[in-house]
Amino acid sequence: MQSELRKLPSIDKLLQSDALAAVIDRHGRQVVLECARTELDRTRQQILNGQPAISPSELAGQIEQQVRRQTRPTLQPVINATGVIVHTNLGRALLSERAKAAMQQVASAYLNLEYNLEAGARGSRYIHAADLLCRLSGAEAAVVVNNNAAAVVLVLTALAGGTEVIISRSQLVEIGGGFRVPDIMTQSGCKLVEVGTTNRTYVQDYERAISPDTGLLLAVHASNYQISGFTAQPSLAELAELAQARQIPLMEDLGSGTLLDTAPYGLTHEPTIQESLAAGADVVTASGDKLLGGPQAGLIFGKKTIIDRLKKHPLIRALRVDKTTLAALQATLLAYLENKAPDEIPVWRMISARPAALARRARKWRTALQRQPQLAGVPVRVIDTISTVGGGSLPGQTLPTKALALEVESPDALAQRLRRAGLETPVIARIESDRLLLDPRTVLPEQDAALVEALTVALLEQYG
Ligand SMILES: *Cc1c(COP(=O)(O)O)cnc(C)c1O
Repeated sequence: MQSELRKLPSIDKLLQSDALAAVIDRHGRQVVLECARTELDRTRQQILNGQPAISPSELAGQIEQQVRRQTRPTLQPVINATGVIVHTNLGRALLSERAKAAMQQVASAYLNLEYNLEAGARGSRYIHAADLLCRLSGAEAAVVVNNNAAAVVLVLTALAGGTEVIISRSQLVEIGGGFRVPDIMTQSGCKLVEVGTTNRTYVQDYERAISPDTGLLLAVHASNYQISGFTAQPSLAELAELAQARQIPLMEDLGSGTLLDTAPYGLTHEPTIQESLAAGADVVTASGDKLLGGPQAGLIFGKKTIIDRLKKHPLIRALRVDKTTLAALQATLLAYLENKAPDEIPVWRMISARPAALARRARKWRTALQRQPQLAGVPVRVIDTISTVGGGSLPGQTLPTKALALEVESPDALAQRLRRAGLETPVIARIESDRLLLDPRTVLPEQDAALVEALTVALLEQYG
């Protein structure tokens, strides 16, 4: 055992070896030193447990691997082959090229973020996307915060803190990640007044609940659930009429926040931001990275008096949006202004992708796989299935798609291999009826080669 231990090199020797000199060059001495200590200790322990010593070059290889693991960012790109377009766990909306370029441009340059170039004096960051938001939605005023959850908290706190807020029982929902409407109300200092029933609520229910303490009527769009069957819910216009007559502001939290009509894409009509405002909502909140297809942001549209109040509230400073987000948002909105959104914005390109084009790509993947002689017998077919919009929008709505289906013994094991970090870009697949599905709708065409490569590697492990 002692003789085995003596075979191990010293730390200094290790660090001076050619193998590790290159690693030190790339990652710095400190990280390599720490990893060398840990690996050397581990090897020593293994020898004490009766195992033979490993060679210095093997040891250096283990140290290098350890250094790589420790210096690899935990955030890494993946290929989304799930067919869920706005996938919350995979980062929601992908940005357009224009938005990406805008973000990059402001990332490492000084800019007039809060500086009025004409006056040579302090300006406001809140003006940057506001004009475009107003123009596209018809709102009098608009302001952008960090995300839609922040937008809801800000409006409730600034507009209705210390007052009663009336909401239908059918809308007391959890939006996701523990964001629950009743809790947010409490947190914002509002007193929740729930009216109606789970399935049916009428205007009169709201009307009867109005008291001298009422500060807001709140409507929450059913963005991630459906209530069907024997149901009733007043239209936003009906609520707006009541709100106006009683001089109480009406807020709608839209969540999915679309500027385009979803109906021409074969989906049910999702209320647009423009429609909410036109129906008479005094303030409307929406997400920047759901159907809008922009960066994570909370968009608040509404009456100028209301938006001014929000801008003056101390909380807005804590929820403020950063310069790269504003740049990406502005670039995304410009695509809408120029009527280029369906062509430029990935979310809309994916929504509008045709099954015939998707089938061509799935067939191309299959052909590439079958070119490997060892994989010729793997049961792989192009099938009809569905994609979803996801991300808390259009619940239950689907788009017909074509996917590559692998009818392998253990689809879970294959899915796990596809996710393995060892791959250049891990692939996230979907499992359905005991098959592993890969949907081209959410895979960028430039990722086709990487997907085939990952699939080949994963399958060869099983069939090679
Ligand atoms: C998604 C959603 C939110 C939260 O928006 P984030 O941008 O995720 O903060 C709030 N309300 C509704 C109705 C939503 O759909």
